[in-house]
Amino acid sequence: MQLRRSYGILEVMPLTLRSPRAAAPEAEGVPLSALLQNKRVAQALATIDRLGTWTTEQQIFLTEIPAPTFQEAARADAIRKLFTAVGLRTRTDSAGNVIGERAGTSKKDVVLLSAHLDTVFPAGTPVKVQRDGRRLVAPGISDNGAGLAALLCMARALHEAKLRTHSSLLFAANPAEEGEGNLRGMRKLVETFRGRLRAVIAVDGAATDHITAKALASRRLEVSLSGPGGHSWADFGMPNPVHALARGISKFLAVRVPDSPRTTFNVGVLQAGTSVNTICAQALAKLDIRSESDTELGRIESVFRKAIESGVGEEMAAAAEAAHSSDPRIEISYRSLGDRPGGELPDDSPLLEAVHQADRHLNNPSRIERSSTDANIPLSLGIPAISIGGGGRAGGAHSLCEWYDPTGRELGVKRILLTALAISGVEP
Ligand SMILES: [Zn+2]
Repeated sequence: MQLRRSYGILEVMPLTLRSPRAAAPEAEGVPLSALLQNKRVAQALATIDRLGTWTTEQQIFLTEIPAPTFQEAARADAIRKLFTAVGLRTRTDSAGNVIGERAGTSKKDVVLLSAHLDTVFPAGTPVKVQRDGRRLVAPGISDNGAGLAALLCMARALHEAKLRTHSSLLFAANPAEEGEGNLRGMRKLVETFRGRLRAVIAVDGAATDHITAKALASRRLEVSLSGPGGHSWADFGMPNPVHALARGISKFLAVRVPDSPRTTFNVGVLQAGTSVNTICAQALAKLDIRSESDTELGRIESVFRKAIESGVGEEMAAAAEAAHSSDPRIEISYRSLGDRPGGELPDDSPLLEAVHQADRHLNNPSRIERSSTDANIPLSLGIPAISIGGGGRAGGAHSLCEWYDPTGRELGVKRILLTALAISGVEP
């Protein structure tokens, strides 16, 4: 870790991107100890301890505003007002990101802290928060009520401590992380601030026992086959999209995937047909592919496409033989349902060192994880990024009995704050 200090007036410069190996013997705890000597940092940390009740109230308020993916506007509006109330200069971009800026002394560099707004629950799902002892129970209370609450708590603590950072801090509540949102919000944020981003910290859920520093790449694809359709008896010999899809998928299932890089596939949806005695006009399938390697993703997708084409070819040949005509055809069309690129934070990344230092200071054991999160986008472009939790305890994510217990939330928020400040640098 590079650290420049002028004793007397303590000034912590941002960590610079250079090989930490040269600095390894002194790396441990140095920037953090300097941060902790800053009076305003200490004040911000103490403020986090005081804000527990307020933070939980904001979390409940936001959770009770429905925000299915693509329908986040009402919740976005609410958080925009809260961002303004905690001293951030706010705006909403064309993708629906609510961005709250805390200007640093350097106008150029930014550290982005994000939390996704959307939930997996469809419109109409009851979202009233129920209390069960210490537990708050409601869909989305933790994923991502905990992330949004952590950002608010951190922003308010910095505001009250009047802490000035070197890089600007951008707090973003972003849409479209879940389901078929395809990380649209984060894509736009990275596009807007690319070139200025020193680091991205995506706050998601509660857990503080992990650091998602490796992005799991995934690709989702829909294939649709269409033909003229007809009567099962009168039009026998017409190529049937269901038969073609079945032939294609069964060929695809012969594909072999490696254990390392771990790669998986799943045909999760099949839709076709209107009645048992109708040659259907359309059949579709949805495929999900995940891999530790982008190359494997590409390979599996091309195996799938070839298998489908071959299945269609076989079906048309069989139909032509039965009907003595090769006129009617089956058309194939593909639609991307999502493409999450992969990437990894290098082991010697200053961002990783920063979160490790925060964990040592807070006595918080954690492990590196690979997962599919908003951090995929910056990681795939070589921008330092992690996804971590907002603190507290939680369970039942993506289920109607999702719960959150704020016990220990302060640790999660302090962890985010110390990590971000180690990267941004703070002014005396
Ligand atoms: Zn989430």
